[in-house]
Amino acid sequence: MKYFSTRDREKRNLFSLKEAAFMGLAPDGGLFVPEFIPKVDMEEVERRAAISYTEMALYLTEQLFPDEFESNELRAMLEKIYDFDCKLHHMEGDKYTLELFHGPTFAFKDFGAKFMGGMIGLLNKSSEELIVLTATSGDTGSAVANGFYNVDGIKVVVLYPEGKISNLQESQMTTLGGNIRPVKVNGTFDDCQALVKAVFNDKEFRQIKNITSANSINLLRWIPQSFYYFYGYYLWKKATGKTMPEIVVPSGNYGNLTAGMLATFMGLPVKKFTAASNSNDIIPKLLMSGNYEPKASIRTIANAMDVGNPSNYERMVYLYDDSFEKLTAALNGYSCDDEEIRKGIKEIYEKYGYVSDPHSAVGYNAAKHYDIDGFWLSTAHYAKFGEVIKDTLGQEFEIPAALKTAMSKPKVAKTMGNDIDQLKDYILNGI
Ligand SMILES: *Cc1c(COP(=O)(O)O)cnc(C)c1O
Repeated sequence: MKYFSTRDREKRNLFSLKEAAFMGLAPDGGLFVPEFIPKVDMEEVERRAAISYTEMALYLTEQLFPDEFESNELRAMLEKIYDFDCKLHHMEGDKYTLELFHGPTFAFKDFGAKFMGGMIGLLNKSSEELIVLTATSGDTGSAVANGFYNVDGIKVVVLYPEGKISNLQESQMTTLGGNIRPVKVNGTFDDCQALVKAVFNDKEFRQIKNITSANSINLLRWIPQSFYYFYGYYLWKKATGKTMPEIVVPSGNYGNLTAGMLATFMGLPVKKFTAASNSNDIIPKLLMSGNYEPKASIRTIANAMDVGNPSNYERMVYLYDDSFEKLTAALNGYSCDDEEIRKGIKEIYEKYGYVSDPHSAVGYNAAKHYDIDGFWLSTAHYAKFGEVIKDTLGQEFEIPAALKTAMSKPKVAKTMGNDIDQLKDYILNGI
């Protein structure tokens, strides 16, 4: 299988998986997509899913990456990657949510980040040390750090702005040790990103050190997010006997939703998706007006979805052949503001005794709005947003043991100025 850029529809430049994964973004600025989308055998998917998530993931990985991996090493790696649950939770009647937050950082990004870490480990097996360099404003860094944790031959350097991420997020990145190198930068998130960019743009430096990024648009993070749609389908069919779910996806950069769309092109039956957004309603607006109008992001209490120019929009348009008609046939839009998110959190708690994080509550609101027959995705554990929950429900809830443990460990991070030479010196001599 080869990969090409969403901006190269004639497929003039094809890339290997290793090339595409190490580059992240295509050279022309587009996003990588597979040369063709394989059709899977749904009976086989369900048979495998009945055994385990790993078995199902093995089958799907072999369809999507047919030439890159050897079956035994792939199975062993997938067993390491998917050592956490993916559960369908029944609220009441026909209300279900797919819980994607049982991974190491308690958010769905673990599914993509752990897969990427493991696969990069396999792709990089025989060569020299590889450095994964990334900047974070909070959640992505911990998902990447955990995704690459203990992967042989790899060191992860994560830059984050000092004093500008939550205590919990900082703990999740700085208490791992091992091959993870957190760097606290005296600056803003934009400064961190600029430092990473400067290193990537320095060709000379990159010839000395083997460096890659683990950006959320990387196809090794994007593609495995299609797997849990198959698994959710399997669980929901088993629970209800039905075969055409409607699926609601709380969205920001739309990597999650477009991965679900990819699953349907592989043969997963889905009646309709709903793009559920907070006040950053670029895609829901597009679905009404036909116009894509990116704008500056607005801060909300579902802040992992505060995106004003969703990077996966290009993949969405590509999948539906640039056809507005095809897109709207597959996708509904919904958006709600902070007040409605809080209302949703309260309602879920009062009706079902279930505590939902703000992002998942956007999903609930959309599922309710369209009275869907299917499930919404729950993208994070409520404990990651304890402040909002306490504010909204007037009480505190139990924190999972793994989070408590991380928070009780000493934080270890290198401190650095907003200084490119200092960063380069650290990468060359310090890590
Ligand atoms: C990243 C994130 C989202 C948004 O996912 P996209 O793939 O960017 O649309 C939603 N909820 C949570 C908790 C997240 O961390």
